[in-house]
Amino acid sequence: MPIIGVNIARVKAILVKEQGLSVSSILRINLTTLTATQAEATGDYRRLGGRAITASVLNHEVPPSCDPLGEENKLIWAPGLMGGSIAPCSGRLSVGAKSPMTRGIKEANTGGAMGQKLARLGLKAVIFEGKAKEPTVVRIDEAGVSFASARPLSGLGCYEILEQLKSDDGNNICIGCIGPAGDMGLTASGIIFTTPDFQIRLAARGGLGAVMGSKNLKAVVVDDAESNLVEVKDLAKLEEKVAVLTEAVLTSPSLEGLRRQGTSHITMLTQIAGALPTKNFSRGQFDQAGKISGDSMEKLLKMRANAKSGLPCMDSCIIRCSNIFTDEAGKFVVGSMEYESIALIGSNCLIGDLDAIARIVRACNHAGVDTMDVGAALAVAMEGGLLPWGDGAGALRLVEEIMQGTENGRMIGCGAKYTGEKLGVQRVPHVKGQAMSGYDPRVLKGTGVTYATSPTGADHTAGMVLPGGRDPQYDPDAAQGQARESRFMQQWMAAIDSLGFCMMLGMVPIEDQTKKLDRTMIDCLSAITGEEYGDSYLMELGEAVLAMERAFNKAAGLTKQDDRLPKFFSHEKLGPGGHNCVHSKTDRVRQQQTSLPPLVCYPR
Ligand code: SF4
Repeated sequence: MPIIGVNIARVKAILVKEQGLSVSSILRINLTTLTATQAEATGDYRRLGGRAITASVLNHEVPPSCDPLGEENKLIWAPGLMGGSIAPCSGRLSVGAKSPMTRGIKEANTGGAMGQKLARLGLKAVIFEGKAKEPTVVRIDEAGVSFASARPLSGLGCYEILEQLKSDDGNNICIGCIGPAGDMGLTASGIIFTTPDFQIRLAARGGLGAVMGSKNLKAVVVDDAESNLVEVKDLAKLEEKVAVLTEAVLTSPSLEGLRRQGTSHITMLTQIAGALPTKNFSRGQFDQAGKISGDSMEKLLKMRANAKSGLPCMDSCIIRCSNIFTDEAGKFVVGSMEYESIALIGSNCLIGDLDAIARIVRACNHAGVDTMDVGAALAVAMEGGLLPWGDGAGALRLVEEIMQGTENGRMIGCGAKYTGEKLGVQRVPHVKGQAMSGYDPRVLKGTGVTYATSPTGADHTAGMVLPGGRDPQYDPDAAQGQARESRFMQQWMAAIDSLGFCMMLGMVPIEDQTKKLDRTMIDCLSAITGEEYGDSYLMELGEAVLAMERAFNKAAGLTKQDDRLPKFFSHEKLGPGGHNCVHSKTDRVRQQQTSLPPLVCYPR
């Protein structure tokens, strides 16, 4: 097997796989000693997967008060309980650590091929411990674990790093790596993971790229060739239940737009609802939303050479919401362009141009940073007067400065909260230091409760509360009942993340009127493990995960005061064009001169 990367000298190679292990084991990689041990998962670790296991490891093994960038912190990669199986959309990866951004527990969830490959190698989790003496590349395959110096990758952006690592290994691998932002310890840095077609997905949130960088862990290459160690106790039952789940997903009307337009489909839903973050969350509608909508994306991808839509980001995906975005000449720009990037970099910065947004997303990927926190930081920088509103070229230059490590580049690469503090901007849309995603909490109030109370900081993946879900009477604007709905969705998503399902699939049982699909999911798990679970298993699992996460945060010193939205969300009213917004007279005048549609009720 070739060593990783061109011109990288091998430091040490250790074969660690012991004979006779079950297919569910924990692999520990100690970067201080460049050693690795593999042991059968026991106790809690045996029963848990994905986000549940990252929460459990952090609670058992990481001092909550530790320095997130110190040696005591651990970085955990864990496929879900369904990982590597034939269940649809079940290969997500949970990445966990104490976050340098929220100072509390973090789980960043990602697509890509890593979850499936680790599961097929029989690994429940990989735990990275200690700190290497120099930047290091780790390789994991059937033969064991090997280490190599990453010095030749120094200073390269993520696209270049992936090319280097790919060149020696062909395509049968998945790479997880950090870019210069992670090396620099910037708190909006994420971890890049490759998809089966070598596009990029990011465990974006909470600064886990900085944790990886603090361990001098530059990249991990995983090869699962010849390996398929996912044990299924009752394959016939699994096939039967998977068929039911697959049919429900393929016929779900709410996924139709997603399949056609990818997540850009959401742009006009939030625009119509008046919840599209616009001009640093001062408005809920954008007068150029049509230019960045799903329809515009669909047209553009059909028209351009080499552009594609309807792609999976992992082997088992049947929804296929990913795309490849090319420029007018058909040259690759980015894969994939997602709603959250469109909202935070686009409407939130008044940039109504998909090409400009795509170039900024590419620069974020190259540096290895979260497009959401960086998008929110750009809007804060615009509010602070660092660059004009809507200046796509200026925003791109600023993001490119992250790679160069300039003062402004580092500021933007540390996310919205840090940028606000640096520029003296009060209006920063974050909770626990993490920027909100693309839904205004004044309109989607249940999601606002999730932003505020999620142990992992403001994020849509922690529990979106939408109308048209499990309760047809649910009103996202009601003054009462939001906490209950948020709690339900937070528990549900914690369970979905622990099983390793994609949240897109996770929304289907919520909307299913037969109310039987959650049982189908439980039966899929039962077929794999051979254990029986009650009807309330998923909600109990979700509650247990949240309890572990809250316990860690409490011990880390977070209090109820951290479970709050920023004050401006309660004292500024939100209008579709900002006409009710108290902080800008100029905005009010401009709104009167534009032709924004009136705010309408969120579609039920
Ligand atoms: S639905 Fe989209 S995000 Fe989910 S697994 Fe498929 S391609 Fe990835």
